[in-house]
Amino acid sequence: MSLIQFYNVTKIYPPNITALDDLSVKIDKGEFVFLVGPSGAGKTTFIRLLFREEVPTRGQILIGGRSIARLRRKEVPYLRRNIGIVFQDFRLLPEWTVFENVAFALRVIETPAREIRPRVEKVLERVGLSHRARMFPHQLSGGEQQRAAIARAIVNNPRILVADEPTGNLDPATSREIMKLLEEINYQGTTVIMATHAWDIVNSMRKRVIALQQGRLVRDDREGAYGYEV
Ligand code: ADP
Ligand code: ADP
Repeated sequence: MSLIQFYNVTKIYPPNITALDDLSVKIDKGEFVFLVGPSGAGKTTFIRLLFREEVPTRGQILIGGRSIARLRRKEVPYLRRNIGIVFQDFRLLPEWTVFENVAFALRVIETPAREIRPRVEKVLERVGLSHRARMFPHQLSGGEQQRAAIARAIVNNPRILVADEPTGNLDPATSREIMKLLEEINYQGTTVIMATHAWDIVNSMRKRVIALQQGRLVRDDREGAYGYEV
């Protein structure tokens, strides 16, 4: 059974904007998937549906075999705990240190206080940021800020890591380092879904590529390249 299953998913925003059009796709545990397509293709909508920030107009979404359409309100936070997310603009809280930014993700899920420090230290080591734990976001480079954001996203061991243009604000060398880190996280078992316009990265990594265009799946390649028709 696939970890993520979309069955004939259509999303129409009022009054009649079709953001996803009869999309069926499966993503297995442990996959690394690039989500590509021009602006307006439906990538953000796909991500919002995964988190259940939106619900499909038609069709079904299963995660771990469970329909997320029928989750009760109280169950939504449990779904979201299984999905970490990082953004192009990092979204760290500026008045908190790196340590506190990461610890926050554990505090909100009521992790016992004595577990927080060792877990934060461990994840900062994993992303290569132990030496920056006491610094504030503005004291870090862009790449370091993205590492901190990745640490925050994975500290509670989500099954899925979603990265929305994670290299969009980074130079090519730093982008490659971030991609190496995402690949390592993926090798350790986390399913990674990355929406991107970075064709050079997609072309060099030869991972699965799901291409959307006007809400439709136009390509799904096992070891794909970037290009899509415009
Ligand atoms: P992408 O992330 O690939 O740029 P989106 O999922 O953001 O694509 O957008 C897909 C389509 O849905 C676009 O036409 C966009 O304008 C529209 N759309 C996205 N969000 C909303 C919304 N909240 N209300 C209305 N239309 C929206
Ligand atoms: P953009 O406009 O650049 O696409 P958004 O602000 O819409 O960026 O956010 C990007 C994606 O991140 C969206 O698809 C949204 O569903 C997701 N997202 C935003 N906030 C959260 C959150 N608190 N938890 C989980 N996902 C989120």
